[in-house]
Amino acid sequence: MAATHQWQAVGEGLHAWIHPIGDWGWSNAGLITGGGEALLVDTQWDERRTRDMLAIAPVPIGERITRLVLTHGDGDHVWGNRAVGADEIIASTATADHLHSEDPGGFARSARLLAAVSKAPIPPLPGPAGRARELGRFARYMTRMTAPWAYGEVRRTGPTRTFDGVLELEVGGRAVRLVDVGSAHSPGDTYVHLPAEQVVFAGDLLFVGVAPVMWIGPVRGWIAALDELRALEPKTVVPGHGPIAGPGELGLLRDYWEWAIGIGADGRNAKLSPAETALQAILDTEHEALPWGSWWSPERLVISLTAMEREAQGRSPIHSLVDRARVMAATAGVAEALRNEGLATTSFGPPA
Ligand SMILES: [Zn+2]
Repeated sequence: MAATHQWQAVGEGLHAWIHPIGDWGWSNAGLITGGGEALLVDTQWDERRTRDMLAIAPVPIGERITRLVLTHGDGDHVWGNRAVGADEIIASTATADHLHSEDPGGFARSARLLAAVSKAPIPPLPGPAGRARELGRFARYMTRMTAPWAYGEVRRTGPTRTFDGVLELEVGGRAVRLVDVGSAHSPGDTYVHLPAEQVVFAGDLLFVGVAPVMWIGPVRGWIAALDELRALEPKTVVPGHGPIAGPGELGLLRDYWEWAIGIGADGRNAKLSPAETALQAILDTEHEALPWGSWWSPERLVISLTAMEREAQGRSPIHSLVDRARVMAATAGVAEALRNEGLATTSFGPPA
């Protein structure tokens, strides 16, 4: 496995931009070229790294990327949109709504504030000192995640064309299908399928070598999407995060979700919080031997269990900034507890 990010061929005129360790923010992209046309699938988390990626993209000389397809609305897949300079930015309606609900400027300000908090020792407060420790832990976790990125320069751009269900495109005479599976990882997830080449760009419907994150769900919707992807019998699946994969990894993620559904239900019966359930499950002596026992960022199970708990209680998904900050603080707490036990958590990707 390559140690650093690079473009990798996944077929004739098909390439994937791969970060081998695909944890927080280190997302993959796809490129489809042929017949004088070039279409990009997803960007990086900011404009700078999107430009860096495009500077070495295998686009034939004299051609440019005219179309950009977005698999979903998370910033790490769409905040480089402006840097691509495509004539057309295509996304499902749900992805468009999601993209418009996110504010890169607000995110940049929060990141700066948390970076300041993470550097400053928090003075002991009267009352429970644990609160101050929690804030410091949350700030450090967020700062390690956000430090390599220039969100302040990002200008939200696109989409210029939306669809629901399936959109059939052609690039250089070959069929490219965009399939909107509805809500699963995010409020709207789309995969990009090249039927003749049996290649799928799965977006964040697939994570490889790193724990998935489910912000929205339903988890059964995500499992149904994985079954749909497997039914396409792809030879190659480019995940949203992690190395290039195949149908086996789709099945593995399905197994992970069935496991997570089981431990989530047990945790709720035992009146444990998602963070307590996740910590107990990951510290379990049998966890290491599970197929996902060595995945990066195991603490992200907290987020997925929180989404499942809200689903079980009939509550709205994790969406507001406050909800997300709360669940990220709990995730940072579990990461610290795992580190204290000598276990790996998030790598926080390559240095800036
Ligand atoms: Zn992602």
